[in-house]
Parts: sequence; structure tokens; C-alpha cells
Amino acid sequence: MSETRHTRLLIIGSGPAGYTAAVYGARAMLEPLLVQGIQPGGQLTITTEVENWPGDTEVQGPDLMVRMEAHARAVGTEIVADHIAAIDLSKRPFAAQGDTGTTYTADAVILATGAQARWLGLPSEEQFKGFGVSACATCDGFFYRGQEVVVVGGGNTAVEEALFLTKFASKVTLIHRRDELRADKVLQSRLFRNPKVEILWDHNLDEVLGVTDPLGVTGVRVAHATTGEKTELPCSGVFIAIGHSPSSELVADQLETHMGGYVVTAPDSTATSIPGVFAAGDLTDHIYRQAVTSAGMGCMAALEAEKFLAEQEGSELIPAEPPRPERQALQR
Ligand code: FAD
Ligand code: NAP
Repeated sequence: MSETRHTRLLIIGSGPAGYTAAVYGARAMLEPLLVQGIQPGGQLTITTEVENWPGDTEVQGPDLMVRMEAHARAVGTEIVADHIAAIDLSKRPFAAQGDTGTTYTADAVILATGAQARWLGLPSEEQFKGFGVSACATCDGFFYRGQEVVVVGGGNTAVEEALFLTKFASKVTLIHRRDELRADKVLQSRLFRNPKVEILWDHNLDEVLGVTDPLGVTGVRVAHATTGEKTELPCSGVFIAIGHSPSSELVADQLETHMGGYVVTAPDSTATSIPGVFAAGDLTDHIYRQAVTSAGMGCMAALEAEKFLAEQEGSELIPAEPPRPERQALQR
């Protein structure tokens, strides 16, 4: 059923940025409404151990996000299971259209839609997606018990995925386009020590090889990054871990973006190019992209939204140039 809901503060996204904004927004008595999107809890729900969240030497990503959701609820956030299909930021109140048919109008908006996995764009990658090609080892690793798999990439995600896959696979080959990993040193050292891991340096994935009846992967063809020489490796699973792109499609034609779609915010601020619209987390951050930095930006966004709303609501209550006797009364 279609309905219209109004809120002073609409938060879009339920990762660390969205939930932190919700905690601060609710404690500022803004009664925020948070729309979770199709991945409640965000990216950390598809990983296992998180070892750099302050206060927890080690915490499972999904557990941490359940705790954040509970915290946001406990302090008074209304959390809604919906996905925003479109948003109109051209006038206030802002209006967001949910897939459920609900229209959310809001005096201020915090965008915290995060990022999503990038793909190589090979036709064979597309063909075998869900049938041997995946971007989530935590989700699909279990299917490769006793089999050989490859992981493509050289960042933290690729190394964590490779390490996670060693729990199931008989062999994990990490294919990286350079001769040096980008991942944190502590992860690299774990990877290098793992006897199930082999690293194929200076190679790119050229094609995923497989069969069609039934659809399944049998190997990959890789090409040397400089010579172009091609080699085939047998494997049953291919995990693509080549980074993430900001989920800014919703607002890319309305807000200023840069560096491939990251929403631009003012220096030392989460303010976007439209007053009353704030952006936090991976959506706006092309440098750090961590849970804790996303949470930090969520906090900033809520504090800035609170200030914005106070100014707006204050200016509605108090005329900009009240007649002199009223001004004197106000000052008293
Ligand atoms: P996200 O976590 O990306 O959440 C985005 C949210 O927006 C989701 O809830 C989604 O449903 C919602 N959304 C998107 N579009 C819409 C829409 N149209 N309508 C409504 N909702 C929408 N960081 C660390 O600090 N430590 C780690 O150990 C670590 N491990 C990681 C492991 C993996 C496998 C990955 C992929 C990332 C890891 N990261 C880690 C990075 C960390 O997960 C991100 O930096 C962080 O989750 C970003 O938080 P966010 O709130 O900006 O967005
Ligand atoms: P990332 O750090 O951007 O790394 C992407 C990797 O993929 C790089 O090694 C890159 O190679 C490679 N790559 C990119 N495009 C490619 C292509 N077309 N073909 C082949 N290889 C390609 O991305 P990420 O690993 O997903 O991490 C994203 C963010 O989340 C980072 O900030 C990361 O720190 C964070 N994160 C943190 C943790 C943690 O703290 N434990 C875990 C996971 C993610 P080059 O190196 O040559 O550029």
C-alpha cells in the first residue's frame, strides 16, 4: 500500500555510517527514520573476523552490525526494511521513493549507501556469476570444500577472501596484476605463511573457463601483465576482489561527485552540494574506507544535520528581521 511518511531526519543505509548517524540523531531527539536497503548491516555482514574495530580485539562482522542496529533502535531510531529507488533533492522537504511504495519526505537527509563490489567486466565473468564466479567468499566459500579456487586482487579484501577460502578449498591461488600487494602487512604475512596459498604475481584474469550443461567453472585463463603470455589454471571457483565502487547511482545526477562516483563533501564536513543533504561513509570516502572511519563520518553527519535543522526550524520560528519591540523581548 502506498503511503507518505514524514521525518525530520531520513538516513539511507544501514552500515556503520548509517547506524552511527542514527545513534547520534536519535540522541539529539531528531527521531530519525533509517531505511536499511537490501543489505541490512552493510558490507561487514559479508565478512567474518573484524580485528580493527576499537574495543573488540576480534568481532564477527555480522555480530557487530546486529549490535549497531540494536543500539540505534534502543535510542529511538525507527528502522525500516525498504530500499530507496529514487530521491528528489531539488526541493524541501526532500522526497525518497521506497520499493515498498512508501514515499519518505524529510527535512534533512543523511546518505550512507556505502559501496559495492567491482567486477572485471569480462563476458565470461558475467556468464558464470553465481555458477562458480563470486565476489563474496564468506557467502559462497563453503561450496568449494576440497576444491581449487582462485582469487583476483591484491587488497585487504582479496587477501582476507583468500585466507578464508583456505578453510574449505584444497588450494587457493591469488592472482594479482602487480608484484606487490596493497593489503595490510599483517594480512600479507598470514597469507605468505599459509601452505594452501599460491600467489600468481603480475597476471590478469583473461577469461573464466567452464561448461554450460550444467553451468560451472572448470578453470581460468590468465595473461602475464607485461608479456601477455597466456596460461590456464584449473579451478572450480573464481572470487573477484578488485575493490569497491561507491553506491551513488541514487544521487549522482543531483549531487557533485568525483573520483568515479564518490559524493563530494565540504572540507572537514559531511555537507554535500545541497544544503540539508549530508553524506557519510564509503559513499564519500575514496581513501580510508574502513568501518571506523565510516562510523566517524556518520557521527559528523548527524551532528551537522542537527545543526542544520535547528537553524531551519529556528528561522521558521523567529522571523529574520522581527520588529524592534519583539527583538527586545527575545533578547530579554
Ligand atoms: P556499507 O557498509 O557499504 O553499507 C551501505 C548500506 O547502504 C547497506 O546497508 C545498503 O543496504 C544500504 N543501501 C545502499 N543503497 C541503498 C538504497 N538505494 N536504499 C537504501 N539503502 C541502501 N573495514 C574495517 O574497518 N575492518 C574490516 O575488517 C573490514 N573488512 C571488510 C571485509 C569485506 C569483505 C569488505 C567488503 C569490507 C570490509 N571493510 C572492513 C570495509 C567496511 O566494511 C566498510 O568501510 C564499511 O562497511 C562502510 O560502511 P558504510 O556505512 O559507509 O556502508
Ligand atoms: P582496494 O584496496 O581498492 O584493492 C583492490 C585491489 O584490486 C588492488 O590490489 C588492485 O590492484 C586490484 N585491482 C583493481 N582493479 C583491478 C583490475 N581491473 N584487475 C585486476 N586487479 C585489479 O579494495 P578492497 O581490497 O576491496 O578494499 C576496499 C577498502 O575496504 C579498503 O580501504 C580496505 O582497506 C577496506 N577493507 C579493510 C579490511 C580490513 O581492515 N581488514 C578488509 C577488507 C577491506 P593494485 O594494487 O594494482 O591497484
